[in-house]
Amino acid sequence: MIKSEGRQADWRRANPEKYLAHVAVGAALTRGELIKGPCEVCGRTQGRIDAHHDDYSKPLEVRWLCRSHHNQLHAAGEDLFGKEAA
Ligand SMILES: [Zn+2]
Ligand SMILES: [Zn+2]
Repeated sequence: MIKSEGRQADWRRANPEKYLAHVAVGAALTRGELIKGPCEVCGRTQGRIDAHHDDYSKPLEVRWLCRSHHNQLHAAGEDLFGKEAA
């Protein structure tokens, strides 16, 4: 049986910058420095809303996307929805 924990650890080793960016978002949310917004595509606020990074070197510059739009964006392999100049 494959442990999901092992796969997580492998992912962390392979993507240290992404992992640290997610940790930074989690910490900022806990401290109230970052507020979760609605999905920027469909405006959904319920269910799982993910922080999406356009640039992992800017860990707190995130875009909020619901699970399905987040998956869609990554499935497209590029920025499917366009970028607002922030
Ligand atoms: Zn959405
Ligand atoms: Zn993403």
